[in-house]
Amino acid sequence: MIRVNCNDCIHFRKAPYQAPRTGCWHPDSMKVTQKEAFLDEQQQPGNHRKINLRGDCGLFEQGAAKLSFLKRLFKLGA
Ligand code: SF4
Repeated sequence: MIRVNCNDCIHFRKAPYQAPRTGCWHPDSMKVTQKEAFLDEQQQPGNHRKINLRGDCGLFEQGAAKLSFLKRLFKLGA
């Protein structure tokens, strides 16, 4: 069995920079969803700790690997 980590998943967002609340923002695991953009503040993400308690979440999708500091610097053209 492959174990997955929420920190590597594209559905995991952390407050305050990525989302208003920390959690799993996959549409199937969210507690409260809203279709209208002006109601975004009411959305509630799912509890990633509960959903991925055993590390075998089926909704996991690998995010892009983080670049090293130097690679990010060169990408900016510095
Ligand atoms: S619970 Fe599953 S879908 Fe949600 S962030 Fe964790 S691995 Fe991704």
